[in-house]
Amino acid sequence: MKTIKGKLVDIVQRDIYNAILTIEDGKIQNIQKAKEEFSEYLLPGFIDSHVHIESSMLKPSEFARMAARHGTIATVSDPHEIANVCGLEGVYYMIKESEKVPVKIHFTAPSCVPATEFENTGHSLSSKEIEILMKEPKIVALGEMMNYPGVLNDDPEVYAKIKVAFDAGKPVDGHAPELGGERLKKYIRAGISTDHECTRLEEALEKIENGMHILIREGSAAQNFGVLHPLITTYPELCMFCTDDCHPDYLEKGHINTLVSRAIAAGHNLFDVLRVSSYNASKHFRINTGMLQLGDPADS
Ligand SMILES: [Zn+2]
Repeated sequence: MKTIKGKLVDIVQRDIYNAILTIEDGKIQNIQKAKEEFSEYLLPGFIDSHVHIESSMLKPSEFARMAARHGTIATVSDPHEIANVCGLEGVYYMIKESEKVPVKIHFTAPSCVPATEFENTGHSLSSKEIEILMKEPKIVALGEMMNYPGVLNDDPEVYAKIKVAFDAGKPVDGHAPELGGERLKKYIRAGISTDHECTRLEEALEKIENGMHILIREGSAAQNFGVLHPLITTYPELCMFCTDDCHPDYLEKGHINTLVSRAIAAGHNLFDVLRVSSYNASKHFRINTGMLQLGDPADS
């Protein structure tokens, strides 16, 4: 058993207070308010809620080494790029390679390998293989359902993959750029609960109004933070941050911490920003994360 002392940034109660945390078996067992004044801050670590680690050109352990320096404590990673090349074997490599690193790297089972039936990438993942992956504790969801024409046209294999995820009690990630109206409603009715492809605020608002969670994406390939950040204040419980693609030169400069800084600079409430950067993804994907320990800002 060990204890950590600090100013606890409590996102749920929206408060900051001096506290002593008791840690046992790698988990917080108790939080005790303290009368003493501490200088270090303790807050939940940041989560990248959707990233293809392969696009960083790094293996998961190296990605973790770089991301941890920026306060990232967990990711939800879709290994669909390696799955296109190596199939199940590639997915298991990513899981195994990420086991002994300080960042909790979680995965989604890639739903669209190959991305369309017109592609020949070398490997494919069927609903049978998704069923196998769903048994893995590190697989927390079905990965981005890029095949929205398949959802809209009642493709039985697409629905079989979604059913397998639901039977395992895991959510289904979306990918539906510019989908709106009745087509969007049908896509959501299939049980798809997130989208990270919004490039317009109105598009994101329509998806939120129909029940989706929006992943505000800012990475190497797509930058949507500037357009979507007003959602942090209007819908702080329904947004998360993600990079989607994160090249090594980008990751070297920063990660989710950069979005936290930009959101604070844009005038959003600290607790809303921290909720979007950590708590919401942890809750949606039912993942355990951990605390960041930051020095007294006056010292730095
Ligand atoms: Zn993606």
